[in-house]
Amino acid sequence: MRSLVTGGAGFIGSHLTEHLLGLGHEVVVLDDLSTGSVHNLAAVAAEPRFRLVRGSVCDEDAVRDAMAGVHDVYHLAAAVGVFTIMARTLDSLRTNLHGTEVVLDVALEHQVPVLLTSTSEVYGKNTTAGLREDDDRIVGSPLTDRWSYAEAKALDETLAHLYHRELGLPTVIVRLFNTVGPRQTGRYGMVIPRFVDQALAGLPLTVFGTGRQARCFCHVLDVVPALVALVADPGAYGQAYNLGNAEQVTIERLAHKVIAATGSTSGIVTVPYEQAYGPGYEDMQRRVPDCTRAHDRAGFHPTRSLDEIIAAVVAERRTPRPVGIATTVAG
Ligand code: UDP
Repeated sequence: MRSLVTGGAGFIGSHLTEHLLGLGHEVVVLDDLSTGSVHNLAAVAAEPRFRLVRGSVCDEDAVRDAMAGVHDVYHLAAAVGVFTIMARTLDSLRTNLHGTEVVLDVALEHQVPVLLTSTSEVYGKNTTAGLREDDDRIVGSPLTDRWSYAEAKALDETLAHLYHRELGLPTVIVRLFNTVGPRQTGRYGMVIPRFVDQALAGLPLTVFGTGRQARCFCHVLDVVPALVALVADPGAYGQAYNLGNAEQVTIERLAHKVIAATGSTSGIVTVPYEQAYGPGYEDMQRRVPDCTRAHDRAGFHPTRSLDEIIAAVVAERRTPRPVGIATTVAG
């Protein structure tokens, strides 16, 4: 069994790659290393069943090379992180739209199942506590930069859905709610690694907006097995599945939890959104999943609590990174 993981050098992709190799699969990773890193693949670099192709999902030749002989595709490659989307909005939009179209087209030639990773962001400003997959999207103006990510991912979903319905390609969509764990970087905006790094450095934790906005954080290792179960299940094709943890926390409370978990003497500063992200940003006040569908289909049942997640990220940050990783990079 050979799997392709696009974006496999990223935070979630590298955990998925390790998991698939652990199951005995061969894994090809296609990654342009724009936000991903070979360091994330350090544990598997010497594994003969692993191959890294350096290239973009927008490059049809690279996708064809990476997809040769694979049995399924996990399409995770995308421009990610609110800082990335706000700083390079047009590039991000192009990658997220065009990359998915290329992956689906090549998968269609090979007739291999594709799992598309989408995002809870597609629900936009819908604050229903317990968002279900068929719930309405409530998004702002297409001219407000923040929404370009939600729009691109929503269109990707529609493409995956239509490739399934009209062209018969097996596709399954997952909507990831805030997914966290070791290896996630705060560089692109993600709040937990940012808070942990700030707390460990003794810097003030930067709470954007009022801090009353709420999120639910799910450990990456709770998510990864569900991806594998869903792509292997023909009964899942043509559907979208929420994957997340339903434990809510406000960002202000999260900051206090991180300070407590690190024993830091850091304080908290409130930063207006405009200062944090520049113009064109609008936040979501609450985002809570209902994962009944994924539970019923794939037995999805996250077990790691927010406190455990924070502890895992703190422990990782306190462990020095190995240096001098060698890996095979083609393309
Ligand atoms: N956030 C924050 N401080 C930071 C980074 C993020 O207060 O240093 C806030 C951000 O504005 C949002 C929440 O934390 O309300 C989650 O942000 P993240 O970028 O991790 O995920 P998303 O906005 O996609 O849910």
